Amino acid sequence: MNIIIFGPPGAGKGTQAKFLVKKLNNFQISTGDMLRDEIKKDTEIGKKIINHMNDGKFVEDEIVNKLLEQIIFDTKKMNKLIFDGYPRTLNQAKNLDILLEKSNQEIKHIFFLNVNKDTIVKRIEKRKILEKRSDDDASTILKRYDTYMKITQPVLDYYSKKQNFHEVDGSMEINDISQKIEEILNV
Ligand code: AMP
Repeated sequence: MNIIIFGPPGAGKGTQAKFLVKKLNNFQISTGDMLRDEIKKDTEIGKKIINHMNDGKFVEDEIVNKLLEQIIFDTKKMNKLIFDGYPRTLNQAKNLDILLEKSNQEIKHIFFLNVNKDTIVKRIEKRKILEKRSDDDASTILKRYDTYMKITQPVLDYYSKKQNFHEVDGSMEINDISQKIEEILNV
């Protein structure tokens, strides 16, 4: 089944996506990881996005949508997708709907990990030490949170009306969040 893990930066999307990948034998689709990989490999895309990413701004929809297109039509991964960090804009959400329809797939569940700003700041400061991400410093965290509130919030409105939308308290312990997701999935 295809699942979207949705939420602000630092909500634990990556952690829960990894949990589901293991549990369901699925694939984690992290646009953040894909973009960091482009930077690491110093590709044309990487050169174009490095400043934007380090500054906590979103990468253009066109670039992210193109990266995603290759994944959606990958027959090995079809109906085994765990989306982590995509979609983040309404344009991306609508693009995803089109690509899913074209590839005859659907989203089975959308999990929204709801976390408040204070918890996010504390978590990302911890993550900076552990993962050494260049976009995890204090001022960038706040910028990323503001970007989320401005641009990603409309995506939440779009998804929250759907029947397969589940809000989970993302401030709980990692294992408790995983357990809650498991209960909803009934796996
Ligand atoms: P993440 O690893 O999901 O926290 O993403 C890290 C950064 O990558 C974000 O702050 C954005 O700059 C960029 N990024 C990741 N996913 C997207 C997306 N779907 N749309 C635009 N930018 C993205």
